[in-house]
Amino acid sequence: MAKLKKLEDYREEIEQCVKCGACRAHCPVFDVEKREGRVARGKIALAHSILEGEVGLEPKVLEDLSQCLLCGSCCDQCPNKVPTEDIVAAARRRIAEQKGLSMFGKGVAAVLGRPKLMNLLAKSGGTLSSLLFKTLPENSGLRLRFPAPYLEQDRTLPPVTAKPFRERVPEVIHGEPHQPTVLFFTGCGINYLYPAVGEAFLKALKFLGVTVIIPKDQACCGLPAVSSGATKTVEKLAEQNLSALSRHKVDHIVTACASCNAGLGKIYAEMGEEFSELSTKTMDIFVFLANHGLPEKLAALPKAADRIKVTYHDPCHLRTQGITQEPRQILKALPQVEFIEMPDAGTCCGLGGTYSVYHYENSKRIGAKKAANITTSGAELVATDCPGCIMQLQDSINHADGGQRSVHILELLADALPDLP
Ligand code: SF4
Ligand code: SF4
Repeated sequence: MAKLKKLEDYREEIEQCVKCGACRAHCPVFDVEKREGRVARGKIALAHSILEGEVGLEPKVLEDLSQCLLCGSCCDQCPNKVPTEDIVAAARRRIAEQKGLSMFGKGVAAVLGRPKLMNLLAKSGGTLSSLLFKTLPENSGLRLRFPAPYLEQDRTLPPVTAKPFRERVPEVIHGEPHQPTVLFFTGCGINYLYPAVGEAFLKALKFLGVTVIIPKDQACCGLPAVSSGATKTVEKLAEQNLSALSRHKVDHIVTACASCNAGLGKIYAEMGEEFSELSTKTMDIFVFLANHGLPEKLAALPKAADRIKVTYHDPCHLRTQGITQEPRQILKALPQVEFIEMPDAGTCCGLGGTYSVYHYENSKRIGAKKAANITTSGAELVATDCPGCIMQLQDSINHADGGQRSVHILELLADALPDLP
């Protein structure tokens, strides 16, 4: 049985916070609000007080604990590596247990736990797209024609596909003998919003002769429910994925979404011994491609005369796992790309799972700093490795009238590779 850790399970880590304040300088929320309750030290103190029964779950406590992107920047810089993002997520689960889920949390749990409902909603959204949305200039996304619950009218959204990616492709795509077999865990972002990224993934693996399995019955990894504190939904989705993924004999389970990668590779790993093989086999697409000689193959292609200036944004869920070099390695090797590093590439974009839904104003303020850094770099495109970041980056760029586009690195890779029969 999949079991997420409880707040009590983090007592030792909570007690390792020495209140030095080193985390203050690295928290994107503190950076825009400058309030102690927003920084890791304050949240850990709150979690400790909840454990000791010294505070009740009054509105101020709930507000402070909701003001966290779960980005892990504080833990990266903490001398004792206190995992604030895990502690806050566990505190949110405790709150949901005692007070019930918020309205939005209930919606997330209801939809994510029912893949058929998700498919139906996505297809309806895709079919009614022109009625519901208007297209932004330069095709840089959509905006709602009228306000909707939890979605502001000034937010840039990607189009929802009327035909999800997993319905477009066969379950098995055979490669060459002696090449590995990988399972493609698509995640919801690629399945419903960015199917072109899924197509690009398949093109890259076909180029290497890899066999790809795309199980039809895979479910959401559960990360949005982690952010909402919806314990049962996360545990149910983990079990559903364990059963869907374990049916296939593969060398690796490959993701092209940073959040899915952290869900399967890190969070599932903590949920029980039965997830150990699944988590160990989970690998980010660029780690896989780098390990299988793609940078060398790309370097052999002739460089384009007119190269496009591209910078890279580190998704938090990869940065906190130490995956920072491989995506850059592929980007730098692309013949049509001139890679430029932007300032603070590793700072959170401001999405933070459901954070940008509850705290859109703060999310925009954090995103504005990222948009300014993209502009400073002089890049025309910002590439990343996470559908959620692509969406947030484009929203931030559009608010800043930056004119750049956010893309997945795989889309650029697909442009560089030859079309194979
Ligand atoms: S979380 Fe870490 S960096 Fe922040 S106050 Fe505690 S010990 Fe210091
Ligand atoms: S996880 Fe991110 S947002 Fe949350 S306290 Fe740490 S640095 Fe701040």
